[in-house]
Amino acid sequence: MKCSEIKDLLGNYLDDELTQEMRNRVNRHLVRCRDCAWEVKSLEEAIGALRATAPDDRPTAEFRERLLEAALAEQRSYRASAPYVPLEEGAYVATWPGQGREWQIDESEEE
Ligand SMILES: [Zn+2]
Repeated sequence: MKCSEIKDLLGNYLDDELTQEMRNRVNRHLVRCRDCAWEVKSLEEAIGALRATAPDDRPTAEFRERLLEAALAEQRSYRASAPYVPLEEGAYVATWPGQGREWQIDESEEE
């Protein structure tokens, strides 16, 4: 599967809405694609932080949808602005301004 296909499926993947076969295909991709694996980890952290703020109260589907969209949009903007630093011929490393940062959930978003 291509990264673009994986990214289209991540929302459903994280919501556990994929068939077992599709999950397996996504998992196989994540094992060998650090980019997509990083994206999943970031989204899981965002969702985990959200759940931590309301452990007894499952967020509404609409709110989770908005959170996922916001997290994905934020990652796209990081990706667009990430400076690529050549290490050696054929090897590049990206430095991500947001890497390692804690996800902040703005509670004012939750209505
Ligand atoms: Zn990928």
